[in-house]
Amino acid sequence: MIFGVGLIGGSVALALKKAGIAVQIIGVGRSLESLQEAKNLGVIDTLEINIQAACHAAEIILIAVPVAQTTAILQSIKPYLNANTVITDAGSTKGDVLAAAKIVLGEQFKQFVGGHPIAGAEKSGASAAKADLFQAKNVVLTPAPETSIHAVASISRLWQACGANVSEMSAQTHDSIFAAVSHLPHLLAFALVDDIASRPNAEQLFGFAASGFRDFTRIAGSHPEMWRDISLANKDALLGEINAFEEELSQIKKLLADENGAGLQILFERASTARNNWAKTQQ
Ligand code: NAD
Repeated sequence: MIFGVGLIGGSVALALKKAGIAVQIIGVGRSLESLQEAKNLGVIDTLEINIQAACHAAEIILIAVPVAQTTAILQSIKPYLNANTVITDAGSTKGDVLAAAKIVLGEQFKQFVGGHPIAGAEKSGASAAKADLFQAKNVVLTPAPETSIHAVASISRLWQACGANVSEMSAQTHDSIFAAVSHLPHLLAFALVDDIASRPNAEQLFGFAASGFRDFTRIAGSHPEMWRDISLANKDALLGEINAFEEELSQIKKLLADENGAGLQILFERASTARNNWAKTQQ
């Protein structure tokens, strides 16, 4: 059963169907219209707005909605959860999600496994879902000390069936890593585009923007609600990353103001080598 049949929930559904392991996928959502679209696209088998009925037979419940919705969804399913159901999520932040699950689920928190697929796109909705979205991509699980090992094994199998490589870490480690390599870059992309768009000559600037601008800002086209929730949920780590980035920018500003070409070149060479080495690991 999937709450939120958008890009991520829909892609899990398609991947499981392709792998032939999901008997029946029930989609539960906020809008009947988008659920109907998911059904018409063949992403889900059944759509359900009656949560009691949907929870009744669910072996696994995947929550794939903007992270601020997690508490409300867990509250809605809690009365109908049976002892064998495993609950997981796909949210991009994990500390807030685990805290919410612990408070809402109480004794049944052991049935909850936090998860984050490190795959996605700036597109959203079931129409953007793809069966191979998680193929050879990482998925991080963040089990708590209380989490049942059977629940973790079940969610690992689910992601492996989607073609992903599964690893585990604490929610805190997860949130500090992704603040640096995902959340900060998204904020920078949003900030740059917002700055350009709000200038009086924005049309002229966009008119001449080319591939460098496109590559740097692709992720500024991402879902605003999702990124609002991620930013707020990981506020502390993200503020730390913004401070570190401001220091880096100040360093570049000073090198530039001092016309320190040698210093700029050393910094650019260091960054260029690191970027190229990283890119090789991604092939
Ligand atoms: P999406 O907008 O494509 O899909 C979200 C779906 O959730 C929509 O169908 C929406 O109608 C539904 N929804 C919203 N609130 C709901 C509620 N209260 N109850 C039921 N359904 C609800 O978004 P997405 O990209 O699939 O992201 C889903 C989650 O996955 C987010 O937590 C996001 O942080 C995480 N994630 C996204 C990416 C990415 O690149 N897009 C990558 C990894 C993880």
